[in-house]
Amino acid sequence: MKLTNFVSKSLIAGVAIAASLVTAPAVMAQKPAQQQFITIGTGGVTGVYYPVGGAICRLVNAGRAEHGVRCTVESTGGSIYNLNSIRSNELDVGVVQSDWQHHAYHGTDRFADQGPNKELRALFSIHPEAFTVIARADAKAKKFADLKGKRVSIGDPGSGQRASMDVLLGVLGWDHSAFSATFDLKASEQSIALCNNQIDAMVYFVGHPNGSIQEATTACDSVVIEVAGAAVEKMIAERPYYRTATIPGGMYRGNADDVKTFGVGALLVGSASMSDDVAYALVKSVFEGLDNFKRLHPALGHLTKESMASDAITIPLHPGALRYFKEAGLVK
Ligand code: GLU
Repeated sequence: MKLTNFVSKSLIAGVAIAASLVTAPAVMAQKPAQQQFITIGTGGVTGVYYPVGGAICRLVNAGRAEHGVRCTVESTGGSIYNLNSIRSNELDVGVVQSDWQHHAYHGTDRFADQGPNKELRALFSIHPEAFTVIARADAKAKKFADLKGKRVSIGDPGSGQRASMDVLLGVLGWDHSAFSATFDLKASEQSIALCNNQIDAMVYFVGHPNGSIQEATTACDSVVIEVAGAAVEKMIAERPYYRTATIPGGMYRGNADDVKTFGVGALLVGSASMSDDVAYALVKSVFEGLDNFKRLHPALGHLTKESMASDAITIPLHPGALRYFKEAGLVK
């Protein structure tokens, strides 16, 4: 199947990168000053972040002889894990949701205890993501309110879906006790648990199409659930990083109609401590290879250089990214 292909191709790319690292000491011995390593934190392997991280590294590594940057990709719990790891310098860059980019920089919501991370910098914007709720068809749920009293996977604690689910529950005046049971499943485990009837529903804040929802809708009968209504509209109106979103009908088996929900943008962020030259090489590799990049995953199909230089970015740009955007005439 097409999507599984994307995942397995990027896994193969990951293996190739790991194998090539074995030869790294010899390369470093020849050009010690020029080798720079960056690791991109992504998400679960059946999501979009992980193959997109693989696509970014593929483009960066193709130009390694010129800029000396070697890129590797890591599967992680998702946005919250990535933002915490960038802050503690365990990760150089990460793919994150625009709502959690905003809160991490400003030290609000889930980041209130840690305080603001004023070192956080945006590199570029990537694909749109939709807050996606999938229920087993036999759970007979049509809209989010129907999940009351059900067994729900609310997401890995390091994931963006978990953090945004908690925001949504707060807006609705609910908490975890609205469900008969909650589970902290990893993104890659959710669709299997759904089809094994261990849960009635799962949430994933993710771009479409993706391997996880494809798995959930082909391995068993399951439906995409609407997340709409007055409270959700108010939440979108009051918060700059939320927008309305639609999961297109016909994309997944058994789901012929468009489904309304809310969304964010996914973006690549890093720390101000990353050198301008490395950030510049990273951004330039992706923008100059944009046609290839878009072909590497179907969720990237609508990207333009203009949207990637600005969409959903509410924190300062990294100076290396800004240098490229100015050079390319994308910002003044
Ligand atoms: N938006 C999810 C998160 O922040 C990850 C989605 C994906 O892996 O594509 O955890």
